[in-house]
Amino acid sequence: MKIIVTDPIARQGIEILKASGLEVEEKPGIPPDELVKIIPDYDAIIVRSATKVTKPVIGAGNKLKVIGRAGVGLDNIDLKAAKDKGIKVLNTPAATSISVAELALGFMFAAARHIADATASMRQGKWEKKKLKGTELFGKTLGIIGSGRIGTELAKRADAMGMNVLIVDPYIKKCAVGEIRTLEQMLPKADYISIHVPLGDETYHMVNKAIFNKMKDGVIFVNASRGGIVDEDALYEACKSGKIGVAAIDVYEKEPLKDSPLYTLPNVIGTPHLGAQTKEGQIRAGIGVAEKVRDALLEKN
Ligand code: NAD
Repeated sequence: MKIIVTDPIARQGIEILKASGLEVEEKPGIPPDELVKIIPDYDAIIVRSATKVTKPVIGAGNKLKVIGRAGVGLDNIDLKAAKDKGIKVLNTPAATSISVAELALGFMFAAARHIADATASMRQGKWEKKKLKGTELFGKTLGIIGSGRIGTELAKRADAMGMNVLIVDPYIKKCAVGEIRTLEQMLPKADYISIHVPLGDETYHMVNKAIFNKMKDGVIFVNASRGGIVDEDALYEACKSGKIGVAAIDVYEKEPLKDSPLYTLPNVIGTPHLGAQTKEGQIRAGIGVAEKVRDALLEKN
C-alpha cells in the first residue's frame, strides 16, 4: 500500500511506515493541482498543517482510506468530504500537550520577571535593576480554565512550583492536582489565569469584557489555546487600562497576525503560535501519526 507524505514529518515516523512494508513517497510542498492529479495512486495521505486536504483532493482519492494529520487541529482537512467517502481522519492530539503547557509556564515566568522587557532594555545598553524588579510564582494562585490534556500538564507543573491551582472545567468531576472552582469563584482570586479550552460555539469569545472585569487588577493572563476564544478588542482594552498586568498570547483570531494594536502595548508579550513547535512535540506527532496510519491501513484496530 502507498502513502504520500506532503508536509515534513519526523524521520522516525517515515521509518515506522517503511518498516511495516508500506511504500512511502515524500512530496513536501506539492502544489494543490498536482496533488489532485496523483492522489488516485495512494491509500493514505499524511500532512501537518500546510497541505490543504480539500474536497477535490478527497474526491480524486479513489483508493484513499486514511488521512493522517501530525498534530492537533484539523482545520486544513475537509472533514465532511472525508466522512462522506468513509475515509478515516486520524490525528495526534496528545503529542504536543507538554510543549504547550511548558510555553504557558514560560509565559508566566517571562511576565513575572519582565524577561522580554529586560532583554530589550539590555539591547539598548541599559542596566535597569530597580525598574525591572519582578515577583515569584511561588505562593501565587493560578486559575486554569479547561482541565484537559494541556491544562492538566500545566496544573502539575504549577503545583510542583508551590502555586495554588484552581481548576475551572464544568465537564470534569475531579482533578489530579488543584481544586475545582466555578469560573465566578476563580476569577477574582487568581493572580495568573491560563486558558486551555477547545474553540467552539460555547467557547467563542468566552473571555470577554465582562470576564476581564471580574479578574483581579493586574492579573497575568495567558492564552495558548486558540484565537477566537478571547475577544481581542476586550483584551486590548483590559491591557490598556491596566486591568490586566501582563497578557501573554500565542494564538490569534486571524493568523498570521498583522497590524494588531495588541503589540503596540508595553504589557503584551507573545509568540506566533509556537505552542506545539518543539522538536520533541514534532517527533511525538510524527511517530504517533505514523503508528495510527499504519495500524489503520493494516487493520490492526
Ligand atoms: P482537551 O480536549 O484535552 O481539553 C479541553 C478541556 O476544556 C476539556 O477538559 C473540556 O472539558 C474543557 N472545557 C470545554 N469547554 C469548557 C468551558 N466552557 N469552560 C471550561 N472548560 C471547558 O484539549 P487540549 O489538548 O488540552 O487543548 C486545549 C487547547 O489548546 C485547544 O484549544 C487546542 O486547540 C489548543 N492547542 C494549542 C496549541 C498551540 O500551538 N498553542 C497546540 C495544541 C493545542
